[in-house]
Amino acid sequence: MPVVYRQLSPANAHLPTYSLAKELAQQCVAQFGAVRHTQAGVGSDSCCAAVAITPIDGHGAVGPVVGYDEQQGPVLGPVPAAAAQQYAVVFGNSQMAAGLVQNPVVGGHAERAALTVAPLGAALYSPPAAPAQAALFVELTPCINCQNWLAGAGGGVPNPFAAAIAPGGPVTLNVWWRWDYPDAVQATPLAGAHGVFMPLNGVVGMGTFHGGTPLNQLVDTSSW
Ligand SMILES: [Zn+2]
Repeated sequence: MPVVYRQLSPANAHLPTYSLAKELAQQCVAQFGAVRHTQAGVGSDSCCAAVAITPIDGHGAVGPVVGYDEQQGPVLGPVPAAAAQQYAVVFGNSQMAAGLVQNPVVGGHAERAALTVAPLGAALYSPPAAPAQAALFVELTPCINCQNWLAGAGGGVPNPFAAAIAPGGPVTLNVWWRWDYPDAVQATPLAGAHGVFMPLNGVVGMGTFHGGTPLNQLVDTSSW
């Protein structure tokens, strides 16, 4: 079961990498909250994604998001002292991808954008409490094309982690999402999904969330 899908919510808190996924969701708020609605190409309907990798040149370990200052931006806590608990984050955004800031081939799909901007040689990070379990957070449920892409099938720029997360591969990629997309997911549960599903009004729900201040978004995220 190399790629598994589940919704980020407290009902699924017992599943592997939940805590890491929640932190990745907060990192997304910190990363994109400051530039959202500033004509940088990130609006309410732009889907964000983040994946944890082991620190590598150019992508150092990050501390946890502990707050948000409306003047200074995100407030990060100290990087964990233990090397095993240190990870870096690479981000993706659907609208920035579509705007050619990221690779145009993966445009419009935040999770593809995140995985394809990870530096060459990067490895997916697994928390000490969940060996061989990696985590990707994406705000909307991956579309069927992205599910195929994650599984290693085509899509222009290949998934650089396809071999690691292939059937029989060494790592399970836990793909956590928050809002159901497309809405059909509500009627037809995602193939390969695990855990509890709770409809949250899809793209509209995400847009409402993005309409809040970064601080409000962080408070919201803390209850996921
Ligand atoms: Zn997609």
